[in-house]
Amino acid sequence: MSLLSINEITRLLAEEYGNLSWSQHRDPLSELIMTILSQNTSDHNSRRAFDRLITTFGNWQAVAEANVEEIAQAIRYGGLAQVKAPRIKKMLDQISAQRGSLDLMFLQELPLAEAKAWLQGLPGVGPKTASCVLLFSLGKPALPVDTHIHRVAKRLGVIDSRASAERAHEILGAMVPAEDVYQFHIHMIEHGRRVCKAQRPHCHQCVLRQVCPTGQMLLGTTLEHKVTA
Ligand code: SF4
Repeated sequence: MSLLSINEITRLLAEEYGNLSWSQHRDPLSELIMTILSQNTSDHNSRRAFDRLITTFGNWQAVAEANVEEIAQAIRYGGLAQVKAPRIKKMLDQISAQRGSLDLMFLQELPLAEAKAWLQGLPGVGPKTASCVLLFSLGKPALPVDTHIHRVAKRLGVIDSRASAERAHEILGAMVPAEDVYQFHIHMIEHGRRVCKAQRPHCHQCVLRQVCPTGQMLLGTTLEHKVTA
């Protein structure tokens, strides 16, 4: 898939879903904890667990000083509390030990690869979580690849159908221009939820069908009209 085609996908999705501009969602540590709470949990439940954590403890330092059971109790509505509470506790301990505080704003000054590597050195933090923190809280061009983006990118032929989620981060991260990363991420998720659904993609109403080999195949046509510029 050429850069021109990635640009074409970005353009078509922007036409469909509108242009977006980045604004900070949360500070980096809050984004990190929110992302951990959202693992294998609905948005609704993870937000509930996050809010409960804040109202119970008041700040992240107090969460760091709490014991695992207290944290698990506060996040129990989010699911997997017995897995996530020790993960959060361990992560806060490690940040304090390494940095002497819980402030993660220093990541803003690091080159992207270094900031990613630092975050991925924390327990329970993989490429998706690290990219969410860097993109949403600091506006850095790190592309989180969730299940929707992974699926849609495979169907579009942007990544190989056997590419792991980790490999998808590397390939897509290198392919999408920095200035488009935020919008590409949001739009691909939107498209995966609304149109390119896991079980039955709605190819006949998809704005990407002319550049999508899977769509062309499912619609019974060829790639004669594939856009290359
Ligand atoms: S054409 Fe079909 S398979 Fe391709 S992106 Fe659109 S909905 Fe998904």
